[in-house]
Amino acid sequence: MKKADGIIIAVVLTVCAALFLFFRYGEQKHTNQMKAEIYASGRLLQTVSLTDERTREFVIENGKMILSIEQDGVAVSYADCPSRVCVRTGKITLPGQMITCLPNRVIVKLIGYSGFDQEVDVIAR
Ligand SMILES: [Zn+2]
Repeated sequence: MKKADGIIIAVVLTVCAALFLFFRYGEQKHTNQMKAEIYASGRLLQTVSLTDERTREFVIENGKMILSIEQDGVAVSYADCPSRVCVRTGKITLPGQMITCLPNRVIVKLIGYSGFDQEVDVIAR
């Protein structure tokens, strides 16, 4: 093997490792992002990004709800509905999970997204 060949192989390996790390890191960053979709009476009221990380108050036509929005999930911390099933559901942390409040006709749905998923979503709608 010539010296030049060795250098080329070293460069190629370094680039491959850099790309691998870049994509790995990029993917992890994407999958950590989640959004909460808040539906009232079947209509999408608001989409909240979990990275905002704050407590929000929602006055929905049938009642008042306070959502506690954290980076790793969403919970209903207060609702003026009689059964409080939504409050007792606790925090949802995985995409696909949801909190339903039947008396207020509210659904809080957790969705995971990345740049790629978002594009697919737009096409699907
Ligand atoms: Zn409720």
